[in-house]
Amino acid sequence: MRVRMVSMALLLAAAGCASPITTTGAPPPTATIAPTGRATPIGPNEPTAPIVPIVPAGPTGPPGRTAPAGAPAGAPAAGAPSATASGTAGARKAEARPDWPVGDFPVPRPARRINCERVRCVALTFDDGPGAYTAALLDMLARHRGRATFFVVGQMVPGDGERILRRMVAEGHELGNHSWSHPELPGLSEAGIREQLNRTQWIVKRATGVTMDLMRPPYGATDARVAAESRHLGLAQILWDVDTLDWRDRDSSIVARRAAEATPGSIVLMHDIHASTVQAVPRLLHHFAARGYRLVTLSELYGRRLVSGRKYPVDSGF
Ligand SMILES: [Zn+2]
Repeated sequence: MRVRMVSMALLLAAAGCASPITTTGAPPPTATIAPTGRATPIGPNEPTAPIVPIVPAGPTGPPGRTAPAGAPAGAPAAGAPSATASGTAGARKAEARPDWPVGDFPVPRPARRINCERVRCVALTFDDGPGAYTAALLDMLARHRGRATFFVVGQMVPGDGERILRRMVAEGHELGNHSWSHPELPGLSEAGIREQLNRTQWIVKRATGVTMDLMRPPYGATDARVAAESRHLGLAQILWDVDTLDWRDRDSSIVARRAAEATPGSIVLMHDIHASTVQAVPRLLHHFAARGYRLVTLSELYGRRLVSGRKYPVDSGF
């Protein structure tokens, strides 16, 4: 049994994401960053409450059943909160929902035109949030004009998370889908995979007006069916080439040192639900700035729309 648990822990460690099995027992360092929102960061890798229905009342039904391409039917296009205004098509009018935050969407900052084949670029990515330290992280990035990509866990969004996501969009960060409740997607049925992705597409769109076109499978666990569902929803699969193991080593010096191993074009995996990770970021920002790096989103890194269903980096070996 012990061997089995250890091997499972190793498996999850290899997958590069937080494990429900705590192997270190060391308490997390005292946070010097004031958390906002929830008093306690809720990680999707901790025991979680069952998924609560988030389907609004209305004629469109739950997302994932009637919604094509990851967006609920009748959802306004990104940046088009006027979809429920009078004069729109009859079908849309019929599907207007009173809880839709019309006029509340941020204006997305367009991706910058940066040639990452000539300029040193690094894409910092933060998974599993938004969490209690995410606002502090956004402050740091704003001070350094750095942009990042946030792979959002849908069940973290309701409440304060919606406001944080709107801020991300307004400040030029990119959002990606990291499932609804962070399961290993290959263990689910096709319908289950689709629901995990579709719910998160829907709640992010409802909060921000943005239709995401990136996803990251929890634990990096993917297979042909996950690829097919991602393709169906218009999502490219984003993995990484630099793993900070920040979920395991809650030490900002270690996290910063591992992230600093990035080379031009790297995608760095971190988690914004840990105080120690966010504490590592100022050091990282200085490190990359001193070496002439631009901190870019995934879209800026590649400079083109990515192919739905395909894995990036293409030769990542995952
Ligand atoms: Zn994750």
